[in-house]
Amino acid sequence: MFDLIVKGGTLPDGRVADIGISGDRIAAVGQLDGAEAGQVLDATGDLVSPPFVDPHFHMDATLSYGIPRINQSGTLLEGIELWGELKAIATIDEMKSRALAYCDWAVSMGLLAIRTHVDTCDPDLKGVQALLDVRETVRPYLDLQLVAFPQDGFYRDPNAHAQTLRALDMGVDVLGGIPHFERTMADGRASVQELCRIAAERGLPIDLHCDETDDPNSRHIETLAAEVIRHGLQGRATGSHLTSMHSMDNYYVSKLLPLIAEAQVNALPNPLINIVIQGRHDTFPKRRGLTRVKELRAAGVTVGWGQDCVLDPWYPLGTADMLDVAFMGLHVAQMTHPDDMRACFDMVTIENARIMGLEDYGLTVGSMASLVVLDAAHPVEALRLRADRLAVISKGRLVAQAPRRQVRLDLPARPKNVIRRHPMR
Ligand SMILES: [Zn+2]
Repeated sequence: MFDLIVKGGTLPDGRVADIGISGDRIAAVGQLDGAEAGQVLDATGDLVSPPFVDPHFHMDATLSYGIPRINQSGTLLEGIELWGELKAIATIDEMKSRALAYCDWAVSMGLLAIRTHVDTCDPDLKGVQALLDVRETVRPYLDLQLVAFPQDGFYRDPNAHAQTLRALDMGVDVLGGIPHFERTMADGRASVQELCRIAAERGLPIDLHCDETDDPNSRHIETLAAEVIRHGLQGRATGSHLTSMHSMDNYYVSKLLPLIAEAQVNALPNPLINIVIQGRHDTFPKRRGLTRVKELRAAGVTVGWGQDCVLDPWYPLGTADMLDVAFMGLHVAQMTHPDDMRACFDMVTIENARIMGLEDYGLTVGSMASLVVLDAAHPVEALRLRADRLAVISKGRLVAQAPRRQVRLDLPARPKNVIRRHPMR
């Protein structure tokens, strides 16, 4: 007797299987004909995937677009300036209600684990207080990890060092930084060294905004990889963005890639943001500003796709849809081979889960019973359609459902409705 059976779905690897759920765990995967269940969800012909995961977000800033004004230049630097104006006037309650509204969107999109950076440069740590609260509120249905993020620079802001340590003492999960925003390259390097030392001392993962610039001389990823090896942090470090690698000298990158792989530093591009924020100082040709995704993957580096921003000082769009993120990444990185497209789907599910260090993730017996039913036959079709989420199950509970979309046609001698699914050849 199961609490819930998801019947007849197609798994990302192509197997057709029923999934039996007991409590908050997957209890069986396979042919479950005749098995009893409190509830049965028919997923015949639909894709059943482990939930989407976003390892890079800013939940303290989300859903604030236009407050107190919009970003006129579209640059990272004006975004940081604008965020400075917003955080001075935002209240803890406002931040909480915006964050919770975003979490509702996330759940409806089958996005059930998010790593969010939270600004530690505000003297009252309002964002930290708000998001620690939100983390507890959503815990029954969404895994939220917080990164202590000294947005105004670990050394550039005189209070950032103490405030960031305070945030860690309050229970923030991961240590962050922003070396390319320090005043000098030397300060940037020193910040990476000190942050890695603190991460090692406290036994914490580290996730830096790293080299989010078009400057090919921004090489903090090299320091990060070397310090990770020095402190034994392999597998616990992530370089977010790494956009300067787009513009770096090829010979230098040929030495850098094996170093990143040796250090087991994860790479986390944020394609929606990278494509709109980078290259703003270029005329033509205008750089794409996405890191070298295929090359990092070929070198054995774990690479995910992050969302980064939704309706905030840096980005005027976004819907909490990780398929949108993967779809943009697929285009900008030119990952159009079927194997690459399938990899893009894995990057917003399995690979992102690895970056967040999620235990019990996946569609295997004993795993957490969290999954999403998509109106698509397979992962590539899910990407092409940015498929609707028909059902979302989180920790054994059906938390979101949507009817299958139907478009009625009224055309002479044509079908009465249109289905955009298409058999793969
Ligand atoms: Zn970010």
